[in-house]
Amino acid sequence: MVQTEAPKFVVDANAGKLVGWLRLMGYDTRFFSAGPDRELIRTALEDRRILLTRDTLLAERKLVKNGTVGTVILTSDAAEEQIKQVFAELGLKPDFAPFSRCLACNGKLEPVEAATVKGLVPPYVFKTRSIFSRCPDCERIYWQGTHWEAMNARLRQWSRLAEK
Ligand SMILES: [Zn+2]
Repeated sequence: MVQTEAPKFVVDANAGKLVGWLRLMGYDTRFFSAGPDRELIRTALEDRRILLTRDTLLAERKLVKNGTVGTVILTSDAAEEQIKQVFAELGLKPDFAPFSRCLACNGKLEPVEAATVKGLVPPYVFKTRSIFSRCPDCERIYWQGTHWEAMNARLRQWSRLAEK
């Protein structure tokens, strides 16, 4: 299964660690925190999302087995190993679009003028940062800062992992 355009994901409750990282990389990622398997499968079908799960029983579901729902059954519990497996199985290139998705709600971030975030971010941040993005869905403001740099370093590390 090799993807030509950026895949979208639905992550099962048992693999929640992946959600933040996939969003950070820019992938449209829904988190299925609770509910019956058939709903999870319906969510995957609706938006043609790839299902990421640790539940081996899901592999026996008809729509999963016959390939209608693209699925990666994660073998490790460690997020790093899971990312590695997802990239390997889907043949993904590490061409991330980092910081394009809201980590909290999966909304697509939009760049905003610094002037418009005055009063919405801490004064120190407003004074020292110049690049801001906003989530149109939950209105969170993101800015490049130390947290951002730390996450970027982690992403670069994962790009190397995915290339192996
Ligand atoms: Zn949001």
